[in-house]
Amino acid sequence: MLEEISLLERKGEKMELVIYPDNKLNKVCEPIDFWKDNEDNILENKLFELLYRYGGIGLAAPQIGILKRAFVMDLMEENGSIITRAVFNPEILEKSDEMVETEEGCLSLPGIKIPIKRSRRIKVKYFDGVGKEIIEEFDGLASICAQHEIDHLGGKILLDYISPLRRNLAAGKIKKIKKGLLKLENEAREYNRL
Ligand SMILES: [Zn+2]
Repeated sequence: MLEEISLLERKGEKMELVIYPDNKLNKVCEPIDFWKDNEDNILENKLFELLYRYGGIGLAAPQIGILKRAFVMDLMEENGSIITRAVFNPEILEKSDEMVETEEGCLSLPGIKIPIKRSRRIKVKYFDGVGKEIIEEFDGLASICAQHEIDHLGGKILLDYISPLRRNLAAGKIKKIKKGLLKLENEAREYNRL
């Protein structure tokens, strides 16, 4: 269930996720030049591939090192409906005053869960994988996930919501896990060379 477990299980493969600390995670992303950046759905497919490989519910382009305004999500709502979306150049048009607090994790911050308060519903304008403009309202988990991913596109991560003291503690924990992951990756590389 935890992100680092799914990462460790894949220790034979090269890690393709951007893990904190990495300044790609605090850059404001550029809008997609639709036909150039998603030709043959290449960006969308890569994002979905890594989302499923690492067992997340949402993944933003900067988390794979691409500083473009794009993210994917695939999750199940409380009512059982599945929301699978590739979202390009999103813009939040409205946010509900009603808030919900959820423990959020992030594939770029292995081992960390942080309670975050967000709007329960949002209305978003975006482009889908074929460049069609869509206006959609997200509720519950989809709303939370979309807000989390849109934060990434503005260079904002979960650690930006907490006090400097708690941030330092969390950062220390992540760095330890990251070191372990890099070690596994190197070991796998050595092994493959034999
Ligand atoms: Zn994240």
